[in-house]
Amino acid sequence: MADLELRNFTKVYQAGSTDPIIGVDDLNITLEEGNFLVLVGPSGCGKSTTLRSIAGLESVSEGEIRINGNVVNDAKPKDRDIAMVFQNYALYPHMSARENMSFGLKMTTNLSDEEVSDRVERVADMMGIGDLLGDKPKELSGGQQQRVALGRAIVREPQVFLLDEPLSNLDAKLRAHMRTEIQELQNDLNITTVYVTHDQTEAMTMGDKIAILDGGKLQQVGTPLECYYAPKNRFVAGFIGEPAMNFFEMEVDNSDLLSDGIRYSLSESRFDSVRGEGRVTLGIRPEDIELVDGSGDHTARAKVNVIEPLGDINYMHAEAGGTELTVKIPGERYVTEGSEVTLAFPEDKIHLFSGETGDALCNRSLPTDESFSAQLSLHD
Ligand code: ADP
Ligand code: MG
Repeated sequence: MADLELRNFTKVYQAGSTDPIIGVDDLNITLEEGNFLVLVGPSGCGKSTTLRSIAGLESVSEGEIRINGNVVNDAKPKDRDIAMVFQNYALYPHMSARENMSFGLKMTTNLSDEEVSDRVERVADMMGIGDLLGDKPKELSGGQQQRVALGRAIVREPQVFLLDEPLSNLDAKLRAHMRTEIQELQNDLNITTVYVTHDQTEAMTMGDKIAILDGGKLQQVGTPLECYYAPKNRFVAGFIGEPAMNFFEMEVDNSDLLSDGIRYSLSESRFDSVRGEGRVTLGIRPEDIELVDGSGDHTARAKVNVIEPLGDINYMHAEAGGTELTVKIPGERYVTEGSEVTLAFPEDKIHLFSGETGDALCNRSLPTDESFSAQLSLHD
């Protein structure tokens, strides 16, 4: 049985006499017990609306939310067996870490004081804050405070765990550390979790599955690798991956694609996928463009604007046929800013999207080895 299910979930905000705002439009998502789903998308796409509705903090306009098979649309938040952690984790400032973690348990369960203490101490030890239980929030660092906030939710041993951008207030290094920590915790506890973030890196690194939203609409649900290698549309292709995929707007001309000064000939199978389209977008990731000597099929001249060295690699920002693009090259490769280079765009690495709808017409070819395929496919 699915642990958490959204069926045609729609949320419309109707504020006074203004036009209704559609927060989330016809969302379908299923999580099995223990799944870790990352809900990701740009600001305003409906992530918090979805999470708050699952928690019972917002009403459902249409559709159903099911927990353990039961429709909970009308259930009170406290009856849903859910714990939620927000970006602004708002610990009670006058309470110690122990009191902050015990408070909810005391309010919502009839556990004895001793049982509450046991649970709080066990979770605090697991989270590495066992020694800090006597401290008030202001005596704790940002990371320690966030651990207390997570611990406060975990001690309740909920059926479903909801996290809304819980790491946004932390600095980059601590964020990376807490990412791993939350994953380990979730693995150990095996609690069904929905984790909301606008950060595609968090989505890629943390999720068993990711669901990408834009404008209240679901764009794709899949494993991180599936969304990376086989995006369903141009939005997903551009959102997942950092630096972003490069896009060329092109016209279909017989079996060639044309844009300012670039002619790209398509093999028969790829041409088949664009047949009938007037304009398409060609997408290729920064790591798939090659710096080559001489000219040939699927190459173009490019002007190098800026080199961004990261040590092991360089990002080369260049311009080809009026389109700006980013190319990932080895760190030891020396290219002068302002110079001209030849770039190759291997045909097996390109994605083609409909110019009209943005839907993927053809994704890049995939490595065929088994370990890759295993990670690529959905494992519920
Ligand atoms: P996210 O968390 O992805 O940034 P939200 O779920 O907060 O996005 O918001 C989704 C959409 O719903 C936005 O257009 C937002 O302005 C709108 N919205 C959110 N909360 C309310 C509200 N209480 N009243 C009216 N509109 C809202
Ligand atoms: Mg939000």
